[in-house]
Amino acid sequence: MAHIFCISNQKGGVGKTTTTVNLAAGLAKIGQRVLMIDLDPQGNATMGSGIDKRSLTLSVYDVLLESASVAEARVRAEPCGYDVLGSNRELAGAEVELVTLERREKRLKTALASVLGEYDFVLIDCPPSLSMLTLNGLCSAHGVIVPMQCEYFALEGLTDLVNTIKQVHAHLNPALQIIGLLRVMFDPRVTLQQQVGAQLKSHFGDKVFNTVIPRNVRLAEAPSYGLPGVVFDPAAKGSQAFVEFAAEMVSRLKTSTPKN
Ligand code: ATP
Ligand code: MG
Repeated sequence: MAHIFCISNQKGGVGKTTTTVNLAAGLAKIGQRVLMIDLDPQGNATMGSGIDKRSLTLSVYDVLLESASVAEARVRAEPCGYDVLGSNRELAGAEVELVTLERREKRLKTALASVLGEYDFVLIDCPPSLSMLTLNGLCSAHGVIVPMQCEYFALEGLTDLVNTIKQVHAHLNPALQIIGLLRVMFDPRVTLQQQVGAQLKSHFGDKVFNTVIPRNVRLAEAPSYGLPGVVFDPAAKGSQAFVEFAAEMVSRLKTSTPKN
């Protein structure tokens, strides 16, 4: 059964979407079956997987409102090697529409149950907020992967995120845990980044992944070609780091069993 992970950080522009699509592609590359869910109305993970968000007939919006199943709404991102449950601006409306509905924070979890046997990993790209959408992601997941830049303010944002995860763990999803912090957009020439990176490791220990994702322009260019960097330019340093990260993830999980 699938390991379900949210890629989340309330801070905007920290590399959540880049991490989601490249980890999905990296896992696919090493033979894992992956479903990537875009829970952000910006639809960047959808576009970054080569799926045109404007031409989606069904999306995660329909799944949350129970007008379509995951099996009906998912599409194959062929060159990337994984399935996509896409999103577009319509999803912003779900926030309001869900408010009056029952089990509003458990909609995604319920919908996912029927496809979990088909995947090794379900990766959920969350929006940069603690919204009803993010809550649906956190209620569905076994764990959270937190991409972060090694800057001073990154640590402040982390406190908020850790508190949010604690709350969800206590009240809504006892299975939820922080899988790990991923240092992204790392530039070893910047002393502050080295210091914050080391500080993170000493404070959070094993919860910080060994793999570090460097700042790499090929990763930033790839979305305009509708591909994750891992597929667009496999030889790029950033792409290699994401494949390494996928391997680290798989080897970490070998000793633990999925909980669903
Ligand atoms: P949002 O909060 O808006 O959803 P996000 O957290 O998903 O943002 P991304 O969209 O992944 O962040 O990344 C923000 C920007 O940084 C993008 O332009 C992306 O291409 C670029 N970027 C991400 N990771 C890297 C990297 N390792 N090297 C260079 N550029 C990167
Ligand atoms: Mg994003």
